[in-house]
Amino acid sequence: MRAALFQSVGKVIVDDVPDASLSEPTDAVVRVVRAAVCGSDLWSYRGIINRAEGARQGHEFIGVVEEVGAEVRTVRPGDLVVVPFKWSDNTCPACLDGVQTSCERGGTFGAAGTDGGQGEAVRVPWADGTLVTVPGDAGESLYPALLAATDVMGTGLHGAVLAGVTAGSTVAVIGDGAVGLCAVLGAGAVLGAERVILMSRHQDRAAVGRRFGATDVIAERGEEGIAAVRELTGGLGVRHVVEAVGTPESWSMAVGMARDGGSIGAVGVPHTAPTLPLFQPLVHNLSLSLGIAPVRRYLPDLLSRITAGTLDPGPVFDNVLPLEEVDRGYTAMAARESIKTMLTMP
Ligand SMILES: [Zn+2]
Repeated sequence: MRAALFQSVGKVIVDDVPDASLSEPTDAVVRVVRAAVCGSDLWSYRGIINRAEGARQGHEFIGVVEEVGAEVRTVRPGDLVVVPFKWSDNTCPACLDGVQTSCERGGTFGAAGTDGGQGEAVRVPWADGTLVTVPGDAGESLYPALLAATDVMGTGLHGAVLAGVTAGSTVAVIGDGAVGLCAVLGAGAVLGAERVILMSRHQDRAAVGRRFGATDVIAERGEEGIAAVRELTGGLGVRHVVEAVGTPESWSMAVGMARDGGSIGAVGVPHTAPTLPLFQPLVHNLSLSLGIAPVRRYLPDLLSRITAGTLDPGPVFDNVLPLEEVDRGYTAMAARESIKTMLTMP
Protein backbone atom coordinates (compact mmCIF):
# COMPACT_ATOMS: atom_id res chain seq x y z
CA MET A 1 0.00 0.00 0.00
CA ARG A 2 1.00 3.66 -0.36
CA ALA A 3 1.73 5.93 2.61
CA ALA A 4 3.34 9.29 3.35
CA LEU A 5 6.83 9.17 4.87
CA PHE A 6 8.96 11.88 6.42
CA GLN A 7 12.11 12.26 4.34
CA SER A 8 13.80 15.42 5.58
CA VAL A 9 12.99 18.95 6.67
CA GLY A 10 10.71 20.34 3.98
CA LYS A 11 10.16 16.98 2.28
CA VAL A 12 7.43 14.36 2.71
CA ILE A 13 7.24 11.58 0.14
CA VAL A 14 4.76 8.83 -0.71
CA ASP A 15 6.14 5.33 -1.08
CA ASP A 16 5.21 1.64 -0.89
CA VAL A 17 4.99 0.26 2.66
CA PRO A 18 3.84 -3.12 4.05
CA ASP A 19 0.05 -3.50 4.04
CA ALA A 20 -1.67 -2.66 7.33
CA SER A 21 -2.62 -5.89 9.10
CA LEU A 22 -4.09 -7.17 12.36
CA SER A 23 -1.56 -7.82 15.07
CA GLU A 24 -3.67 -8.13 18.25
CA PRO A 25 -7.20 -9.62 18.62
CA THR A 26 -8.37 -6.15 19.73
CA ASP A 27 -7.18 -4.47 16.50
CA ALA A 28 -9.07 -3.38 13.42
CA VAL A 29 -7.73 -2.51 10.00
CA VAL A 30 -9.30 0.63 8.59
CA ARG A 31 -9.13 1.51 4.90
CA VAL A 32 -8.65 5.28 4.83
CA VAL A 33 -11.08 7.34 2.75
CA ARG A 34 -9.88 10.82 3.76
CA ALA A 35 -6.85 12.02 5.72
CA ALA A 36 -5.67 15.44 6.79
CA VAL A 37 -2.46 17.33 7.39
CA CYS A 38 -2.30 18.71 10.94
CA GLY A 39 -0.54 21.84 12.15
CA SER A 40 1.54 19.56 14.40
CA ASP A 41 2.71 17.58 11.33
CA LEU A 42 4.43 20.79 10.27
CA TRP A 43 6.75 20.97 13.28
CA SER A 44 9.10 18.34 11.89
CA TYR A 45 8.50 19.59 8.34
CA ARG A 46 9.73 23.00 9.45
CA GLY A 47 12.62 21.50 11.44
CA ILE A 48 11.28 22.66 14.83
CA ILE A 49 11.42 19.08 16.15
CA ASN A 50 13.45 16.11 14.91
CA ARG A 51 11.82 13.20 13.13
CA ALA A 52 13.38 10.00 11.84
CA GLU A 53 13.76 9.60 8.07
CA GLY A 54 11.10 7.18 6.85
CA ALA A 55 8.71 7.87 9.77
CA ARG A 56 5.04 7.39 8.88
CA GLN A 57 3.04 10.59 8.72
CA GLY A 58 -0.37 11.68 9.90
CA HIS A 59 -2.87 11.05 12.68
CA GLU A 60 -6.12 12.49 11.27
CA PHE A 61 -8.21 10.10 9.16
CA ILE A 62 -11.61 8.55 8.63
CA GLY A 63 -12.22 5.27 6.87
CA VAL A 64 -14.09 2.05 6.42
CA VAL A 65 -13.41 -0.95 8.65
CA GLU A 66 -11.89 -3.68 6.52
CA GLU A 67 -11.06 -6.38 9.06
CA VAL A 68 -11.44 -6.85 12.83
CA GLY A 69 -9.65 -9.04 15.37
CA ALA A 70 -11.41 -11.87 17.20
CA GLU A 71 -12.14 -9.80 20.32
CA VAL A 72 -13.58 -6.73 18.59
CA ARG A 73 -17.29 -6.31 19.37
CA THR A 74 -18.52 -2.82 18.53
CA VAL A 75 -17.37 -2.27 14.93
CA ARG A 76 -17.77 -4.49 11.89
CA PRO A 77 -16.27 -4.63 8.42
CA GLY A 78 -18.02 -2.07 6.23
CA ASP A 79 -18.61 0.46 9.04
CA LEU A 80 -17.65 4.06 8.28
CA VAL A 81 -15.64 5.15 11.31
CA VAL A 82 -14.10 8.30 12.70
CA VAL A 83 -10.75 7.83 14.41
CA PRO A 84 -9.54 10.18 17.15
CA PHE A 85 -5.88 11.14 16.78
CA LYS A 86 -4.90 8.95 19.73
CA TRP A 87 -6.18 5.43 20.30
CA SER A 88 -7.49 4.38 23.71
CA ASP A 89 -9.17 1.37 25.32
CA ASN A 90 -11.97 3.56 26.77
CA THR A 91 -12.09 1.34 29.89
CA CYS A 92 -9.08 2.28 32.06
CA PRO A 93 -9.34 4.84 34.91
CA ALA A 94 -8.08 7.72 32.73
CA CYS A 95 -10.55 6.88 29.96
CA LEU A 96 -13.42 6.61 32.44
CA ASP A 97 -12.43 10.07 33.69
CA GLY A 98 -12.85 11.33 30.12
CA VAL A 99 -9.11 11.83 29.61
CA GLN A 100 -8.67 9.25 26.86
CA THR A 101 -5.44 10.99 25.79
CA SER A 102 -3.92 9.60 29.04
CA CYS A 103 -5.10 6.02 28.40
CA GLU A 104 -2.71 3.53 29.97
CA ARG A 105 -2.86 1.47 26.76
CA GLY A 106 -3.08 4.45 24.43
CA GLY A 107 -0.84 5.78 21.71
CA THR A 108 -0.63 8.11 18.73
CA PHE A 109 -0.94 7.20 15.07
CA GLY A 110 2.26 7.87 13.18
CA ALA A 111 4.51 7.13 16.17
CA ALA A 112 7.33 4.61 15.61
CA GLY A 113 5.96 1.13 14.90
CA THR A 114 2.46 2.33 13.97
CA ASP A 115 0.71 3.16 10.73
CA GLY A 116 0.23 6.85 9.98
CA GLY A 117 -3.09 8.31 8.95
CA GLN A 118 -1.70 9.64 5.67
CA GLY A 119 -1.77 6.29 3.94
CA GLU A 120 -4.17 3.85 2.33
CA ALA A 121 -4.88 1.80 5.48
CA VAL A 122 -4.15 1.83 9.20
CA ARG A 123 -3.98 -0.80 11.94
CA VAL A 124 -6.07 0.64 14.80
CA PRO A 125 -5.24 -0.78 18.27
CA TRP A 126 -8.09 -1.14 20.81
CA ALA A 127 -10.67 -0.79 18.07
CA ASP A 128 -13.67 -1.03 20.42
CA GLY A 129 -12.39 1.80 22.57
CA THR A 130 -11.06 3.97 19.78
CA LEU A 131 -13.38 3.84 16.78
CA VAL A 132 -16.72 5.60 16.61
CA THR A 133 -19.09 4.43 13.88
CA VAL A 134 -20.82 7.18 11.94
CA PRO A 135 -24.56 6.87 12.51
CA GLY A 136 -26.86 6.50 9.50
CA ASP A 137 -25.81 6.72 5.87
CA ALA A 138 -23.24 9.48 5.63
CA GLY A 139 -22.44 10.45 2.07
CA GLU A 140 -19.17 11.87 0.78
CA SER A 141 -20.44 15.39 1.32
CA LEU A 142 -20.05 14.83 5.06
CA TYR A 143 -16.47 13.53 4.84
CA PRO A 144 -14.79 16.93 5.40
CA ALA A 145 -16.83 17.55 8.56
CA LEU A 146 -16.21 14.00 9.83
CA LEU A 147 -12.49 14.33 9.10
CA ALA A 148 -12.36 17.61 11.03
CA ALA A 149 -13.87 15.76 14.01
CA THR A 150 -10.78 13.53 14.31
CA ASP A 151 -8.78 16.38 15.79
CA VAL A 152 -9.39 20.10 15.17
CA MET A 153 -13.14 20.18 15.92
CA GLY A 154 -12.68 18.24 19.15
CA THR A 155 -9.64 20.30 20.06
CA GLY A 156 -11.37 23.63 19.43
CA LEU A 157 -14.40 22.49 21.39
CA HIS A 158 -12.16 21.31 24.23
CA GLY A 159 -10.63 24.79 24.42
CA ALA A 160 -14.08 26.31 24.81
CA VAL A 161 -15.05 23.67 27.41
CA LEU A 162 -11.84 24.35 29.37
CA ALA A 163 -12.62 28.07 29.21
CA GLY A 164 -15.97 27.36 30.87
CA VAL A 165 -18.12 28.51 27.96
CA THR A 166 -21.84 27.83 28.41
CA ALA A 167 -25.11 29.10 26.91
CA GLY A 168 -25.10 32.89 26.72
CA SER A 169 -21.34 33.30 27.30
CA THR A 170 -19.14 35.95 25.76
CA VAL A 171 -15.85 34.40 24.66
CA ALA A 172 -12.74 35.54 22.81
CA VAL A 173 -10.75 33.10 20.66
CA ILE A 174 -7.04 33.73 20.07
CA GLY A 175 -5.83 31.89 16.98
CA ASP A 176 -7.41 31.71 13.53
CA GLY A 177 -5.94 28.38 12.43
CA ALA A 178 -8.20 25.36 12.06
CA VAL A 179 -8.30 24.82 15.85
CA GLY A 180 -9.17 28.44 16.65
CA LEU A 181 -11.88 28.44 13.98
CA CYS A 182 -13.30 25.21 15.40
CA ALA A 183 -13.21 26.81 18.87
CA VAL A 184 -15.49 29.53 17.47
CA LEU A 185 -17.83 26.86 16.11
CA GLY A 186 -17.69 24.80 19.29
CA ALA A 187 -18.33 27.81 21.55
CA GLY A 188 -21.33 28.98 19.54
CA ALA A 189 -22.96 26.02 17.80
CA VAL A 190 -22.22 23.38 20.45
CA LEU A 191 -22.05 25.26 23.76
CA GLY A 192 -24.41 28.13 22.97
CA ALA A 193 -22.16 31.16 23.47
CA GLU A 194 -23.94 34.37 22.54
CA ARG A 195 -20.96 36.50 21.58
CA VAL A 196 -17.81 35.06 20.02
CA ILE A 197 -14.90 37.41 19.35
CA LEU A 198 -12.27 36.04 16.96
CA MET A 199 -8.78 37.53 16.84
CA SER A 200 -7.80 37.30 13.16
CA ARG A 201 -5.99 39.47 10.68
CA HIS A 202 -6.36 37.13 7.70
CA GLN A 203 -9.39 37.87 5.52
CA ASP A 204 -9.94 34.27 4.39
CA ARG A 205 -9.73 32.88 7.92
CA ALA A 206 -11.93 35.64 9.34
CA ALA A 207 -14.51 34.79 6.68
CA VAL A 208 -14.59 31.15 7.82
CA GLY A 209 -14.75 32.40 11.41
CA ARG A 210 -17.82 34.51 10.65
CA ARG A 211 -19.41 31.56 8.89
CA PHE A 212 -18.71 29.54 12.06
CA GLY A 213 -20.50 32.11 14.21
CA ALA A 214 -17.94 34.77 15.15
CA THR A 215 -19.93 37.90 16.01
CA ASP A 216 -16.85 40.16 16.08
CA VAL A 217 -13.46 39.91 14.38
CA ILE A 218 -10.50 41.88 15.72
CA ALA A 219 -7.44 42.27 13.52
CA GLU A 220 -5.22 44.02 16.09
CA ARG A 221 -2.68 42.08 18.11
CA GLY A 222 -0.81 42.55 21.37
CA GLU A 223 -1.78 45.55 23.52
CA GLU A 224 -3.97 46.94 20.72
CA GLY A 225 -5.83 43.66 20.48
CA ILE A 226 -6.37 43.62 24.25
CA ALA A 227 -7.64 47.21 24.15
CA ALA A 228 -10.05 46.37 21.32
CA VAL A 229 -11.53 43.41 23.23
CA ARG A 230 -11.87 45.52 26.38
CA GLU A 231 -13.63 48.22 24.39
CA LEU A 232 -16.14 45.65 23.11
CA THR A 233 -16.84 44.46 26.64
CA GLY A 234 -17.42 47.74 28.48
CA GLY A 235 -13.80 47.90 29.60
CA LEU A 236 -14.14 44.75 31.71
CA GLY A 237 -12.63 42.15 29.41
CA VAL A 238 -14.13 38.78 28.48
CA ARG A 239 -15.09 36.13 31.00
CA HIS A 240 -13.93 33.30 28.74
CA VAL A 241 -10.82 33.15 26.54
CA VAL A 242 -9.71 30.28 24.30
CA GLU A 243 -5.95 30.28 23.67
CA ALA A 244 -5.28 28.27 20.49
CA VAL A 245 -1.77 29.36 19.52
CA GLY A 246 0.64 28.47 22.32
CA THR A 247 3.17 31.30 22.13
CA PRO A 248 4.20 33.69 24.95
CA GLU A 249 2.60 36.51 22.93
CA SER A 250 -0.75 34.75 22.65
CA TRP A 251 -0.69 33.91 26.38
CA SER A 252 -0.03 37.58 27.21
CA MET A 253 -3.01 38.53 25.10
CA ALA A 254 -5.21 35.92 26.76
CA VAL A 255 -4.30 37.11 30.25
CA GLY A 256 -4.64 40.75 29.22
CA MET A 257 -8.14 40.47 27.77
CA ALA A 258 -9.67 38.21 30.46
CA ARG A 259 -12.10 39.80 32.88
CA ASP A 260 -11.26 39.55 36.59
CA GLY A 261 -12.49 36.16 37.80
CA GLY A 262 -12.51 34.85 34.23
CA SER A 263 -11.22 31.63 32.69
CA ILE A 264 -8.67 30.81 30.01
CA GLY A 265 -8.90 27.47 28.21
CA ALA A 266 -5.67 26.67 26.38
CA VAL A 267 -5.20 24.10 23.64
CA GLY A 268 -2.35 25.80 21.77
CA VAL A 269 0.71 23.58 22.07
CA PRO A 270 3.74 25.50 23.37
CA HIS A 271 6.65 25.21 20.90
CA THR A 272 9.17 26.53 23.39
CA ALA A 273 9.69 26.20 27.13
CA PRO A 274 6.45 27.49 28.67
CA THR A 275 6.73 30.93 30.20
CA LEU A 276 3.34 31.36 31.79
CA PRO A 277 2.82 34.84 33.20
CA LEU A 278 1.51 33.71 36.59
CA PHE A 279 1.52 36.97 38.56
CA GLN A 280 -1.30 38.62 36.61
CA PRO A 281 -3.62 35.57 36.70
CA LEU A 282 -3.11 35.42 40.48
CA VAL A 283 -3.88 39.10 41.01
CA HIS A 284 -6.93 38.95 38.74
CA ASN A 285 -8.29 35.59 39.94
CA LEU A 286 -8.08 33.94 36.54
CA SER A 287 -8.60 30.22 36.11
CA LEU A 288 -6.15 28.59 33.72
CA SER A 289 -7.06 25.24 32.19
CA LEU A 290 -4.82 23.55 29.66
CA GLY A 291 -5.05 20.30 27.85
CA ILE A 292 -4.50 18.11 24.84
CA ALA A 293 -8.03 17.31 23.70
CA PRO A 294 -9.48 13.91 24.60
CA VAL A 295 -11.27 13.92 21.23
CA ARG A 296 -12.71 10.44 21.83
CA ARG A 297 -14.87 11.88 24.65
CA TYR A 298 -16.53 14.36 22.30
CA LEU A 299 -16.92 12.17 19.20
CA PRO A 300 -20.34 10.56 19.78
CA ASP A 301 -21.94 13.98 20.32
CA LEU A 302 -20.04 15.62 17.46
CA LEU A 303 -20.96 12.84 15.01
CA SER A 304 -24.65 13.08 15.96
CA ARG A 305 -24.61 16.80 15.25
CA ILE A 306 -22.68 16.44 11.98
CA THR A 307 -24.94 13.73 10.59
CA ALA A 308 -28.02 15.68 11.72
CA GLY A 309 -26.74 18.66 9.75
CA THR A 310 -26.48 21.01 12.74
CA LEU A 311 -22.66 21.18 12.82
CA ASP A 312 -20.30 21.55 9.88
CA PRO A 313 -16.59 22.11 10.58
CA GLY A 314 -15.82 20.97 6.99
CA PRO A 315 -15.00 24.47 5.71
CA VAL A 316 -11.65 24.42 7.59
CA PHE A 317 -10.43 22.43 4.58
CA ASP A 318 -9.55 24.87 1.80
CA ASN A 319 -7.19 22.56 -0.08
CA VAL A 320 -7.87 19.05 -1.39
CA LEU A 321 -5.10 16.91 -2.87
CA PRO A 322 -4.58 13.25 -3.76
CA LEU A 323 -2.33 11.33 -1.33
CA GLU A 324 0.46 11.22 -3.94
CA GLU A 325 0.70 15.03 -3.81
CA VAL A 326 0.77 15.25 -0.01
CA ASP A 327 3.98 17.30 -0.03
CA ARG A 328 2.15 20.16 -1.75
CA GLY A 329 -0.28 20.20 1.18
CA TYR A 330 2.54 20.53 3.70
CA THR A 331 4.14 23.29 1.62
CA ALA A 332 0.90 25.27 1.34
CA MET A 333 0.16 24.99 5.05
CA ALA A 334 3.75 25.81 6.06
CA ALA A 335 3.52 28.95 3.89
CA ARG A 336 0.10 29.73 5.43
CA GLU A 337 -1.41 29.69 1.94
CA SER A 338 -3.82 27.00 3.14
CA ILE A 339 -5.67 26.69 6.44
CA LYS A 340 -5.85 22.90 6.23
CA THR A 341 -5.34 20.23 3.58
CA MET A 342 -7.52 17.18 3.01
CA LEU A 343 -6.12 14.14 1.20
CA THR A 344 -8.10 11.80 -1.01
CA MET A 345 -7.03 8.19 -1.45
CA PRO A 346 -6.37 6.34 -4.73
ZN1 LIG B 1 -7.81 3.88 28.68
